[in-house]
Amino acid sequence: MTALSDIIKKQIKRFGPMPVSEYMTLCLLHPEHGYYTNRDALGATGDFTTAPEISQMFGELIGLSIAQSWIDQEMPTPFILAELGPGNGTLMADILRATKSVPNFHSSIDLHLIEASPEMRKRQETALNGFNVTWLNYFSELPQKPLFLVANEFFDCLPIKQYRRTDEGWQEQMIAVENEQLHFILGTATSEEVFSKTNDVPNGDMLEVSPPTVAFASAIGEHIQGNGGCAIIVDYGEWDSDGDSLQALKDHRKIDPLTHCGTADLTAHVSFKDLTNAASKYAKVSSTIPQGILLERLGITQRAQTLAKNMNGKKLENHISAHKRLTHPDEMGSLFKAIAIIPENTDLPAGFNE
Ligand code: SAH
Repeated sequence: MTALSDIIKKQIKRFGPMPVSEYMTLCLLHPEHGYYTNRDALGATGDFTTAPEISQMFGELIGLSIAQSWIDQEMPTPFILAELGPGNGTLMADILRATKSVPNFHSSIDLHLIEASPEMRKRQETALNGFNVTWLNYFSELPQKPLFLVANEFFDCLPIKQYRRTDEGWQEQMIAVENEQLHFILGTATSEEVFSKTNDVPNGDMLEVSPPTVAFASAIGEHIQGNGGCAIIVDYGEWDSDGDSLQALKDHRKIDPLTHCGTADLTAHVSFKDLTNAASKYAKVSSTIPQGILLERLGITQRAQTLAKNMNGKKLENHISAHKRLTHPDEMGSLFKAIAIIPENTDLPAGFNE
């Protein structure tokens, strides 16, 4: 048992069962014991590997799509280049390297990273050595300027609430303590009215909602509609909430989400429908497309061939398998999906046009 599980148990004993959203918040971002607060989470030696950590091609292609959108929007100067939850900083480093030769792009950048974890900020500082970075705690602190934003595997770690349909109506899934162990229970029934649109759901089914996802997507849509810019969001998930998707990963393996509080990564599938509905109240949102298709449209095969020319042996083998891992439907190609958010009456960025 970890120090954090003791803190969580005490809190539950004092205040009663805890919603899953609060549990996720504590496990991921507790100021002392949170997973992201002090862990080497990402990469081969961490608990999970994200697309930018698999191959430089991911960030390069996204970067060129962002730069093209900046050109299409008449090269606003200065503009904010920002990332939500940059992890090790690899994606932003690849974006910046790939866009170095785009005329006037770098000289117009006002670089902002939105990152909650001090430990992660240190890694980002190392990866982005030589760039002038402003770190922010909150999206709302971004200056009101044209915003070109990326977020990869950020929304999947935002807290979710889970509700199960029962004879009593919709009941929120909570976390309680019994015999000093954490376990799931169903809380008191939640207002049926809230879920009136989902009355046809059979008993036993679970529905997930992520209030912060909706809040972030609305804020991004509003900022981009008001100031210009473009957001590219990539994450794992479905169009719609699809049952219980809370998942814990440790050493690249799935484990029980109620053990290893603060020492395992906790995520849930992202609802692209919720992202789209929230952002499209303000701005134009692309259709949701699989990561594999996005990368193919952006030219990953040609880029992979060019890079392969200077490789052989193990390096070449790894490169070929990285290409497959990012794009193949049995790997990340279809589970991971992408959307773009752009002002109304503006062309979608490269890769997102139907
Ligand atoms: N985008 C990176 C890493 C994703 S891991 C990649 O693709 O490799 C999630 C990142 O989001 C971590 O850096 C974590 O510290 C940060 N994070 C999680 N919740 C956050 C929040 N609410 N606000 C800001 N940053 C957050």
